[in-house]
Amino acid sequence: MDALPVFLKLRDIPCLVVGGGRVAERKIDLLLRAGARVTVVAPQLETTLQAYFAAGTLTWIPTRFDPAQLENTRIVIAATDDRTVNQAVSQAAQAKQIPVNVVDQPDLCTFTVPSIVDRSPVIIAIGTSGASPVLARLLKARLETLIPAAYGRLAGLAGQFRDSVKTALAKTDARRAFWEEVFQGRVAELVFAGKDRQAKKELARMISVTSDNDYSRGEVYLVGAGPGDPDLLTFRALRLMQRADVVLYDRLVAPAIVDLVRRDAERIYVGKEKSNHAVAQPDINQLLLTLAQQGKRVLRLKGGDPFIFGRGGEEIEDLVTHDIPFQVIPGITAAAGCASYAGIPLTHRDHAQSCLFVTGHLKDGSVDLNWDALCQPAQTVVVYMGLTGLDTICREMVNHGLAPTTPAALIQQGTTVNQKVISGTLDTLAEAVFAAKVKAPTLLIIGSVVRLHDQLAWFSPETATHEGSIIDTPTREPSDGL
Ligand code: SAH
Repeated sequence: MDALPVFLKLRDIPCLVVGGGRVAERKIDLLLRAGARVTVVAPQLETTLQAYFAAGTLTWIPTRFDPAQLENTRIVIAATDDRTVNQAVSQAAQAKQIPVNVVDQPDLCTFTVPSIVDRSPVIIAIGTSGASPVLARLLKARLETLIPAAYGRLAGLAGQFRDSVKTALAKTDARRAFWEEVFQGRVAELVFAGKDRQAKKELARMISVTSDNDYSRGEVYLVGAGPGDPDLLTFRALRLMQRADVVLYDRLVAPAIVDLVRRDAERIYVGKEKSNHAVAQPDINQLLLTLAQQGKRVLRLKGGDPFIFGRGGEEIEDLVTHDIPFQVIPGITAAAGCASYAGIPLTHRDHAQSCLFVTGHLKDGSVDLNWDALCQPAQTVVVYMGLTGLDTICREMVNHGLAPTTPAALIQQGTTVNQKVISGTLDTLAEAVFAAKVKAPTLLIIGSVVRLHDQLAWFSPETATHEGSIIDTPTREPSDGL
């Protein structure tokens, strides 16, 4: 983050604007909306500003800028078309430690003015750290259409009752849950329908009957986070990520996805690496239960889909026994994500009529698969956690009847900026992978559909970085499953 967004209270605060043209006018309008006492320094004023001056809305100093004019001012905006003047204003203000904004010259600013969506008291500020005001305006236009004007009235109503809700509910979690009910339920609907008086009555009624006990029972959301690209989350996953009080996540979940969790939610890392579980599975199960019993909304975020090699079933068994409510939200499993992003259709009428998902390693690290089932014609085989056993898998498949020339590919960190596809055949892949020094997680796809990759590959990230990468250790394959 390049700058911290804050909301300045400017009511009756003296602010100086240098410049008297249209650009200055736009900034002056904003300052006036915030209740500031505006002084304008400019040899001439354009007509609207002249009218403001005539009406006594602002003070006018009809000269050129002089640093002495900064006396007593709290913020300064330079909006002239003269770069030298703008620079002088910026320097003088900075020398006096007065926050200064120079329109369209981010290098001269100590603060920037965001694009604003105004649903007062709700105010949304959009900034691009000076990179592109046009983009900020486009985003503003989108938000304007997304957020009903009535949100301002709804926030105003909530403000009136904030203290009484504090008195009625002692626990922070209970209050949060209460307000979510208000904003997503009947009270909000009544405000949106313009029935503000009824909404107020309903809110007062809810407060009169509520108690901390109503919110003492927690719940668990077992959520699939998909294979890495945050764009592949479901709407429901995102909504619950914004709702949860506490989030348990592991190594397979990309940092960019964990970033989307509600800012003040507690985050607990229960990372898993092969043979090195940061928190043992029974402890994770117990933690989910304990947190939910404390009344928390607990989100268990898992890579891919929770029910595919994800131990999702085990994690919720205890919840059933203890009667804790839960939901399971599917995610895009690695096979689907990697195949799509690598341009390898898992089935294809000319190549494969079936597709098997298998796991490449067992608890004790050995590989023990039903080779005959795997080596059927016209079939695609996808191997999760197959990196360690890659050599064995390729060899055994040839031993059980597949041609050594059968196409096979290993996809590293599929769907992320670090995606790499190494393709070859059962005969050549292991060596190619060894030479390429791949980074986990990786997925193995075997079958003649792999041949289509050359033709159908569409996703070729150019900026491999470790931001957004899932994993930072090169050698270990995370095992979320067996
Ligand atoms: N529940 C997960 C799978 C967990 S098992 C799912 O549905 O996808 C963990 C294995 O998934 C890893 O060892 C790797 O084989 C595979 N995997 C997960 N994400 C991956 C990715 N982005 N790219 C390649 N393989 C991935």
